Amino acid sequence: MGAKVAKFGGSSVADALQIQKIKDIIRKDGDIRYVVVSAPGKRFDEDSKVTDLLYLCKTHIEHKIPYEQIFQVICERFMALEANLGVNVELKKEFEKIKEELEKGASADYIASRGEYLNAILVAAYLKYDFIDASKIIRFDEKGKFMEDLTNRAIADELKNHSCAVIPGFYGSRLDGTVRTFSRGGSDITGALIARAIGADVYENWTDVSGFLMADPRIVDNPKPMGTISYKELRELSYMGASVLHEDAIYPVRIANIPINIRNTNEPDDPGTMITAEPAKLEEGQIITGIAGSKGFTVIAIYKNLLSGERGFIRRLAGILEDHDITLEHIPSGIDTLSVVLQNKAIDGRLDEILDEFERQLKPDHIEAFEDMALIATVGYGMASRPGVSAKLFTALAEAEVNIRMIDQGSSEMNIIVGVENKDFENAIKAIYHAFVAHNAQM
Ligand code: ASP
Repeated sequence: MGAKVAKFGGSSVADALQIQKIKDIIRKDGDIRYVVVSAPGKRFDEDSKVTDLLYLCKTHIEHKIPYEQIFQVICERFMALEANLGVNVELKKEFEKIKEELEKGASADYIASRGEYLNAILVAAYLKYDFIDASKIIRFDEKGKFMEDLTNRAIADELKNHSCAVIPGFYGSRLDGTVRTFSRGGSDITGALIARAIGADVYENWTDVSGFLMADPRIVDNPKPMGTISYKELRELSYMGASVLHEDAIYPVRIANIPINIRNTNEPDDPGTMITAEPAKLEEGQIITGIAGSKGFTVIAIYKNLLSGERGFIRRLAGILEDHDITLEHIPSGIDTLSVVLQNKAIDGRLDEILDEFERQLKPDHIEAFEDMALIATVGYGMASRPGVSAKLFTALAEAEVNIRMIDQGSSEMNIIVGVENKDFENAIKAIYHAFVAHNAQM
């Protein structure tokens, strides 16, 4: 018998109907032995996620504003689930305990974690799987730093005793037993850690989309789904803003060489996207894997005669940024020019200060800052060692009358990043998609 770990996100556990779909999925695939659940998410657009409501309780308590009404809404959501799933897990006792902890000043992490905790108890009863509290197996040190080895061992030891189990995502415990959560969306990480510890055949991540799309559907009409993508390509695309999976969920499965399969709970027959260590086999005519991008960058262009021969220039430049606690995103360079790409978020209103410092310490001939820039990454192993790829990309952008302000090609040749003005962002993505994907499909 194989072993799969399946994580179901907030929309897949939003109500009893959704949870019934999980049962059907598991019935069809006996290999899904370990299930990780998020807290119930939104059932419709204006709805609230249980985790958001839990955090809201905490802020109310902190500001000494009555929180009981919000807590009641949360309790009612879980009671409705209990009734509609036809299980009895004595939720009332759980609510009393949580309320008691709230009144005693429980931490935000503890409060936020209760959504996953209660949901896992319910789903376990409904699936007739064991319930394992994540506090037992996901471990953090006293300072809240995640303990990788201890967690790996704790999961493997505990899961030996359970052939099938439901585990709440998102949280674990510190060595002193207090609850600690991952960052938001962290149930993805829990699933990945469990998959790694048991050496799963595959880590299925069930959500409400049938995998990754080759471009943002808000920009490109009906973009093609990606059948397979490698971890490295995914990393490039997620860095640029494509998001379905928590970034930290990739590492645990990647080192154990376990593929991740992104699936759709509402369309369980769709194969979804497979994320693997190896680059995907390309379809006939396929060159790129995907396009992603985001706005909100500043490019600082620095010109200095004989810059290329000046020792320590980049070290000094990096030092200035480090002093301001700013990460250097990209640094494309020419012979006597160099551009520094920074996130506006990181600059945080200190652009003049940084420019002054560059002037003082780097003594450039000329320095210019372009704010309101967007970066677009075109990613795919299919581009490597293939002549004409950049020509095609730049021609597409030229035809769309998009002015390229910056170009950066990774040495692995699996990505080309271009910097364009924010106003050209959507057009540029459409043009690239059309040139590489839509156009190929027509041929
Ligand atoms: N429920 C948590 C959140 O909303 C964690 C998760 O769903 O992965 O962020």
